Amino acid sequence: MGISRYAYKGKRRFDISTFDTEDTGEFTSRDQSVDEFVENLLVINKKQQKLYSERKEGVIFVFQAMDAAGKDGVIRTVFSTLSPHGVKEFCFKVPSAEEKSHDFLWRFWSALPPRGFISIFNRSYYEDVLVGKVHEFYKSDIVPDRMKDSDVIQDRYRQIKDFERYLYETGTRVIKIFLNVSKDEQARRFISRIDTPRKNWKVSSGDLREREYWDAYMEAFETMVNETSTPESPWYVVPADHKWFARLLVSRIVRKTLEEIDPQYPPLDEATKSSLQEYRAKLIDSLGEKGYREQEKQPKEYSDPSLIPAEMLQQELLQKQAESDEKLKENGFKAVRKLLAENYMIRSLNDIMDAIAETPAEEKEEAEEEGEEDDESTRSPAEIREHIKEIVEDNEKETDNA
Ligand code: ATP
Ligand code: MG
Repeated sequence: MGISRYAYKGKRRFDISTFDTEDTGEFTSRDQSVDEFVENLLVINKKQQKLYSERKEGVIFVFQAMDAAGKDGVIRTVFSTLSPHGVKEFCFKVPSAEEKSHDFLWRFWSALPPRGFISIFNRSYYEDVLVGKVHEFYKSDIVPDRMKDSDVIQDRYRQIKDFERYLYETGTRVIKIFLNVSKDEQARRFISRIDTPRKNWKVSSGDLREREYWDAYMEAFETMVNETSTPESPWYVVPADHKWFARLLVSRIVRKTLEEIDPQYPPLDEATKSSLQEYRAKLIDSLGEKGYREQEKQPKEYSDPSLIPAEMLQQELLQKQAESDEKLKENGFKAVRKLLAENYMIRSLNDIMDAIAETPAEEKEEAEEEGEEDDESTRSPAEIREHIKEIVEDNEKETDNA
């Protein structure tokens, strides 16, 4: 299923009072969504490489939400397979004195992505029509007389639309995501933060105070979506009571955005191609008798008894990575990805392989220290997978997914 029912592009009205924050689309449980989530992350990863290589278009993903709606968790998981060189997150807090001395869009210019880059705006200029509207902060701004009679918030909607249109027309796409959590679910998450010592740092009395303005915020979110949705810069309203569904939906939105941009590796011109061929010939010459083909590492056989199981599995994964995706599915590599993704801890394929390679070695050291005989060579890939699962589960217990 697509994302169109969550998209607002300026035609359809968004009515927050009838929006189902508990919606989980076509799924009844998180398990059913795992395969698609993993696939989305892998597609996003590949598309980002092309986006970066092409350097044609920049993208901004804007995230807005009430506190504890899961912004940080969504950003952490959905963008986790992106290469850090092409993506940057900006967290916009209460403006500093310097920022306040400028117009409200001033501080965002330096966060705009160069072409080929992705900027994540964790909060944004939309705060100026959310918290700024709810608390009427603009009333204390010192402004020229001509601004005194204007409807500041209404003007800001238009100014934001103009800004985003300008960006679109000059090579930067702005996609906006509102994680819509219910008041009850927010209460549950706050209680859990209060009850759990390792989550205490996330609670602030300010967040709890803002809850008292809930209705005003809902009105502000609704109007914001209705006033600033356009076909080029749509708003997506994501049901956020179930974290796994919010993450899945955002992965769909990011995937679809990148697919629409459809970046391509830049083709080489004929002159470059032929000069590369010349260099290639020189490189082969430089290898002399050793030659090039022999230099290529032949993958070791899986059955090589000198390999410890972790290496065997890694070898297996490397080989399978080279095969088609269809084959990967049949061969159980997907099971490993799934295992990690189920815990929504997935990072890149390399990380997974590193984890697989490192774990038994670490264990071996520990076992040696304890004077235990640990016969590594008898450990099966299935056992290794089981072991990774335990690590990931431990990890998840430690990490708050909010
Ligand atoms: P986390 O709590 O997960 O660290 P956060 O985004 O909630 O992330 P905080 O430092 O708690 O970070 O909150 C940032 C605060 O800054 C929010 O309350 C937000 O409303 C406020 N803020 C952001 N932009 C503006 C603005 N233009 N005017 C006034 N307040 C703003
Ligand atoms: Mg906060």
